[in-house]
Amino acid sequence: MTNNRDEIMWGSTRISYVYSYSKRKTRGLRVYPDLSVVVSTPFDTDIEKIRDFVRRRGEWIVKAQQQFDLHLPKLPPRQYISGETHRYLGRQYRLKIEQGLENSVKCLRGYLLITTKASPKATAAKALLVKWYRLHAATVFAERLRFCHAKAKRLGIPLPHVNIRLMVSRWGSFSLSGRITLNLALIKAPKECIDYVIMHELCHFKEKHHGPRFWGLMTQLMPDYKAKRDKLNYYVE
Ligand SMILES: [Zn+2]
Repeated sequence: MTNNRDEIMWGSTRISYVYSYSKRKTRGLRVYPDLSVVVSTPFDTDIEKIRDFVRRRGEWIVKAQQQFDLHLPKLPPRQYISGETHRYLGRQYRLKIEQGLENSVKCLRGYLLITTKASPKATAAKALLVKWYRLHAATVFAERLRFCHAKAKRLGIPLPHVNIRLMVSRWGSFSLSGRITLNLALIKAPKECIDYVIMHELCHFKEKHHGPRFWGLMTQLMPDYKAKRDKLNYYVE
């Protein structure tokens, strides 16, 4: 079975897809988490019929892609207790929560040591850890933005304002007012994954939708973006 590439215009949005012929009598269409659109169709289908089929589902496809865009998988809640594993920049650390003279978080060899003045409780540990993540995210994200923007500016992409916020379902988002929002949880992923999300949002300044032009920009600015994107899903916790 070979995959053929094609694209259609749905309004002003270009939708690119691959299609393959199958023995089945009915046509099928799927949108995958990497935003690709895949059509399977009976052997004798005319290309114009396939295009009609995709065009009729244009609205649904664009909505599905928006849902998947930088999507964050749902995971069980963390407990913030000693022994639990948490990540920072892609590395795993075991939590060690103890009572001490002042509130602090220290990143030691293999450990995140959380010291609380009050008796160690999960809620206090969580608050301290989130604060610590926020502090480091501000520095790391700013550094990665400078790194990514140094490449993107050659294409006339402006330096955006960045908000950092804990988001439940997305790694990042872009607003046409020139702002990007990064999920605080991204500080748990390796720097190259942070770079992927930042570059992805920077490319949205030029291309709102995820058509071939968007992925062309990504390839130009970050030739190995696919590997980084795949890694991001692996590093979520
Ligand atoms: Zn996007």
